[in-house]
Amino acid sequence: MSAPIVQDVLPLPRKLPETDRVNLVGLTRPSLREALIAAGTPEVQAKMRVNQLWQWIYQKGVRDFDAMTNLAKDYRALLKDHFAIEVPEIVTRSVSADGTRKYLVRIAGGHEIEVVYIPEDGRGTLCISSQVGCTLTCTFCHTGTQRLVRNLTAAEIVGQVMLARDDLGEWPKPGRNPKDETRLISNLVLMGMGEPLYNFEAVRDAMLIAMDGEGISLSRRRITLSTSGVVPEIARAGREIGCMLAISLHATTDELRNKIVPINRKYPIAQLFEALRAYPKLSNSERITFEYVMLKGVNDSDADARQLVRLIAGIPAKINLIPFNEWPGAPYQRSDWDRIEAFANIVYKAGYASPIRTPRGEDIMAACGQLKSATERARKNRFQIAAEAGLPEPERIVRRPDAPDVH
Ligand code: SAH
Ligand code: SF4
Repeated sequence: MSAPIVQDVLPLPRKLPETDRVNLVGLTRPSLREALIAAGTPEVQAKMRVNQLWQWIYQKGVRDFDAMTNLAKDYRALLKDHFAIEVPEIVTRSVSADGTRKYLVRIAGGHEIEVVYIPEDGRGTLCISSQVGCTLTCTFCHTGTQRLVRNLTAAEIVGQVMLARDDLGEWPKPGRNPKDETRLISNLVLMGMGEPLYNFEAVRDAMLIAMDGEGISLSRRRITLSTSGVVPEIARAGREIGCMLAISLHATTDELRNKIVPINRKYPIAQLFEALRAYPKLSNSERITFEYVMLKGVNDSDADARQLVRLIAGIPAKINLIPFNEWPGAPYQRSDWDRIEAFANIVYKAGYASPIRTPRGEDIMAACGQLKSATERARKNRFQIAAEAGLPEPERIVRRPDAPDVH
């Protein structure tokens, strides 16, 4: 097994910033305060200025200092000299037949990430990314086949929420109280590209802005961080972020989990569960979500379901069963529907909610685990994927020498 289980973020070339003005997006309250004072804001005013700026930026969606009408003209000029308000740029938007929207988003350095908006009855969920690609190599995950990785900045993470609000036209109309508006984005999930706990500080700072009453104003109970199980950071997430937690479990024995979620070799199941039992505020209304991807013939038997129930005993939990989303070259197949239902039934009868996640946005490759920017060229081929998954070598396709290079 050669799959890396360390946090090796390959340095990617980044274009030099075009200006040396500091981006206000993504700065925590204390850093914003410091930046304003350094630019000449009197200390006694700094706290008020932070609140005013946050309201303009995160509650009203204003990107232009001149539109900040409660600030004096010369103060606006000072802000313009020192600062910018920038969010990543939408390159393309695909809309699925089921209303799911996928955005391909360009960040500094020309790299691309994906963001998905999933409208449902009574709520709308935005699935955001924390890294370009992922250093981990879960064998069923398309993102994990992308080689190049860089951490996103807090601005790029909270900026994903802002650009989706731009596209959905969600900013409140001038003169309306933002708190009275219906929110199209009512929930955030860190389930896009990347392992959020390998980019802890930026994810934390962005989520603190998302939760702040003067920031994006979403309740911490409407934000879910999904991790493959970076055990040492789980307690820290509880302390410093306090959002809901989802664990990509996918297997109930170390033997299988080592293969399909390789970080398990570093933090095995027993250690993971010790950290989960200690997660703060666990209760019936604040449950841990266990994600379990249904892979045909791999982890979907009745015995697996019963073992899952034994493993989570005593933890307030919900089991999210995800029918495997196939991607070109994937070494697995989705479990049959009857099998998924039989599995769900066993878990449900043991007293746990066991919703089967309806695949959304499959026609635009927006479904969970399919995210990978099409333009990142360096990637593994299906032979490497199969080798890492411990599967037989795929059939070789003989092509003409002049045929285009596809995997
Ligand atoms: N890195 C984090 C968050 C991003 S992945 C994590 O692993 O938790 C979000 C979820 O999608 C995870 O549960 C992941 O295991 C799952 N997933 C990945 N590839 C998938 C696929 N092809 N089909 C279904 N779910 C997949
Ligand atoms: Fe990374 Fe999560 Fe994909 Fe695993 S499932 S490779 S941790 S994004």
